[in-house]
Amino acid sequence: MLTIKTRFAPSPTGDLHIGGLRTALYNYLFAKKNNGKFVLRIEDTDRARFKKGSVETILTGLKWVGIKTDGKIIYQSLRTDIYKKYAEQLIVKNKAYYCFCSAEILNKIREEQIKNGNPAKYDRRCLKLSKKEIEEKIKNNDPYVVRMIIPDGKTKFKDLIREEVEFNNREIDDQVLLKSDGYPTYHLANVVDDHKMKISHVIRAEEWLSSTPKHIILYEYFGWKPPKFAHIPMVLASDKSKLSKRHGATGVLEFKKQGYLPEAIINFLAFLGWNPGDSREIFSMQELIKEFSIEKVQKGGAIFNIEKLNWINGQYIRKLNIDKLTKLCISYFEKKKSLHSSSFIKQIVALEQNRLKKLSDIAEFSDFFFKNKLEYDKDLLKWKNMNNEELKNILEKISDIFSEIPENDFTKEKLEPILKSEAVKIGDNGKVFWPLRVALSGKKASPGPMEIAEILGKEKSVERVKSALEKIK
Ligand code: GLU
Repeated sequence: MLTIKTRFAPSPTGDLHIGGLRTALYNYLFAKKNNGKFVLRIEDTDRARFKKGSVETILTGLKWVGIKTDGKIIYQSLRTDIYKKYAEQLIVKNKAYYCFCSAEILNKIREEQIKNGNPAKYDRRCLKLSKKEIEEKIKNNDPYVVRMIIPDGKTKFKDLIREEVEFNNREIDDQVLLKSDGYPTYHLANVVDDHKMKISHVIRAEEWLSSTPKHIILYEYFGWKPPKFAHIPMVLASDKSKLSKRHGATGVLEFKKQGYLPEAIINFLAFLGWNPGDSREIFSMQELIKEFSIEKVQKGGAIFNIEKLNWINGQYIRKLNIDKLTKLCISYFEKKKSLHSSSFIKQIVALEQNRLKKLSDIAEFSDFFFKNKLEYDKDLLKWKNMNNEELKNILEKISDIFSEIPENDFTKEKLEPILKSEAVKIGDNGKVFWPLRVALSGKKASPGPMEIAEILGKEKSVERVKSALEKIK
């Protein structure tokens, strides 16, 4: 029986992209569902695009969301001898050739091809070099690359998501396999390693679909059996273009910083191109492993809907117990936390739990608890068509009520019946609770006024009602 083995093969050219994590997740889910292995391979052979620190963001990102890799991490940059050996093998078999053309010549060839209405491909002039000429150039230390020969005809393969895919080889350039710096290109290293690592399924983003015919040809040249391919839909922004920095956060660790929970990120990413075929939306990693199937992955681009992510994240935030949530929120309180007791912070977190979409919201939602003076427009105090007189009367009334309640009894339970009976007298809840809520929070939207009052305590609450009265004088 075929042992299932998948891999995540990122190039360390920047922070781990959220779309990259989706690729890793699909590979992981597929492997684990089939009792297979999931490995990590760092494709770091493009030294010009290599960015220091990106391997760390990949490892931290995977760890954060709970994707564990099997076995040792493979770094391609440490394996250049292997790729060179295979490139030379292809030269011996007449499936690849040395090319000594400079960038300048290549540009000229391109221009010429375009002028003549041909695909902008290399014209194979180095394929005509004699053995002697090649030896001389190499002895002379002339820089060279190794190119594969793309044969005539068509290349077909079956994609697990797209069914039969066909490419006309005429469109494909003689791909460089080995660069002049001695490093392999993505294509050579990728094929050699997928073979050597016994990868059974290559699950990768659709953008690599056009590379696959080159890979299929390489497998044929080497006499190796190719893995199965599944090209998963691109992650698109709401304007249907490829999701990029200009649409907001794209780095996995940026999402972490903003206060998205790893469980929510996984749940959301799983649905970016896949769904279980019914209306269920909340899935743990274990549930995803059970349910995931490649057949249910869609072909068309998957829109990254931040509202959906916020909703899912909110669902996971609601499920946390207060101690855990407080711990996760604490860094968003910045310096404020040192000035207040942890039970004060915990009360605030409990109060805001149901309103949070992401953990960082806590900072903005709760800032009024920490201010000495609230800034707001005095008109905000008025409920609908309330007039000044009514507003003044109720705030005075509330101030009296608050002052009479002993400090220790200043709780929601105590305040509620008293304020409610006041509202009944006036005949409109809004005329009591709206001005009070604004006086205590200075905000259009906040939790209920009695809950806020309880956390603020008697002294601060009275002070805030009094300063509201000052404002409308
Ligand atoms: N290194 C490629 C990337 O960065 C891997 C593509 C593949 O999975 O073959 O996405």
